[in-house]
Amino acid sequence: MAEKPQPVKVLYCPICSLPAEYCEFGPDFEKCKPWLISNAPDLYPHLLKEANEKEGEKVSEQLQSVGISSAAEGAASSAPPGSTVSSKQEDVKRLPGGKIKKKEKQEVVIEKVVRNRRKCITIVKGLDLFGIKLSDASKKLGKKFATGASVVKGPTDKEQIDVQGDISYDIVEYITETWPAVPETAIFFIEDGKKVPAA
Ligand SMILES: [Zn+2]
Repeated sequence: MAEKPQPVKVLYCPICSLPAEYCEFGPDFEKCKPWLISNAPDLYPHLLKEANEKEGEKVSEQLQSVGISSAAEGAASSAPPGSTVSSKQEDVKRLPGGKIKKKEKQEVVIEKVVRNRRKCITIVKGLDLFGIKLSDASKKLGKKFATGASVVKGPTDKEQIDVQGDISYDIVEYITETWPAVPETAIFFIEDGKKVPAA
C-alpha cells in the first residue's frame, strides 16, 4: 500500500500571513523577525545571530549606563551639599585655557594719583566686578565730570578707568546712583597707601 503523501506542513507567519520562508519577501519583514526568531529559527539562522548581537549590545549599553550612574551617585554621595569641596569650587573660576582664578572680592577702589607734577588723575578699579562694562562706565564718567576718561591696563594687567582730574569728591555718590548694584559699603579710597571705606 502506497503511502499517502503527507501534505507538506507549511508554517505560516501570523504577522504577514505568508509562509514563514517567504517572510523576507513580505511587506513587513522587520515585524516578522521576532516571531520568526522564536518559531522558525532554522529558516533564518542569521536572524538569531543578529538578535544575539543586538542583545549583546544592549547589555553592554546597560552596563555602561549603570557604571556611569553609579559613579555619579558615588560622587554625589561622597560630597554632601555644602561641603568644602563644593564651596571651594564656587570660589574658583575657570578661565579659558584652564587657568584657575580665585574669585575676587567685589569692591570698587578709587585712588587719586598725581602724575607729571600737578596733573591729577582719579583711578577707579573694580566696577567690572559688579558686571559693569568698563568702556561704558568710562564714557559716563568722562561725560559726567566733563573730563577725559579711559579704560587702561593697570600694573597687574587688570583693566581700570583713569579719569583725568580729581573727581574723588563726588564719585561715590555718582557710582551708587548710576550703578545701584554697587553699594556704598563696597567702595574704598586709597589714601596715603591705605584703603579707607568710603561709607
Ligand atoms: Zn512574516
